[in-house]
Amino acid sequence: MRATGGSGIKDLYSGLIRIHVLHHACEEGIFGLGMIHELRRHGYRIGPGTIYPLLHGMESRGLVRSSLAWINGRRRKVYYGTRAGRKVLEEAKKKVRELADEILEHDQRRRH
Ligand SMILES: [Zn+2]
Repeated sequence: MRATGGSGIKDLYSGLIRIHVLHHACEEGIFGLGMIHELRRHGYRIGPGTIYPLLHGMESRGLVRSSLAWINGRRRKVYYGTRAGRKVLEEAKKKVRELADEILEHDQRRRH
């Protein structure tokens, strides 16, 4: 991953990227290049060398399942969240919410 910034930042964001990928896989299904663009839109600069191994890893762990589909005239491998993937995502959401509540609330207190 070519994350922006110095050492350790890459590791810091890799979990967020995984959750983000799982979220979109569960919502509408994703393919590698589309997910690269989606992550860029959110400010994460990752390339095919990161996204494909990530998707394959999620697939081998049963979090997503792939099937071939035609998208804009191209045959793409589209990944969809499985039942197990959704379960993991729901757990992750709780943790994200808890963390966001804590760190953002802290921010707010400081501003007041
Ligand atoms: Zn997104």
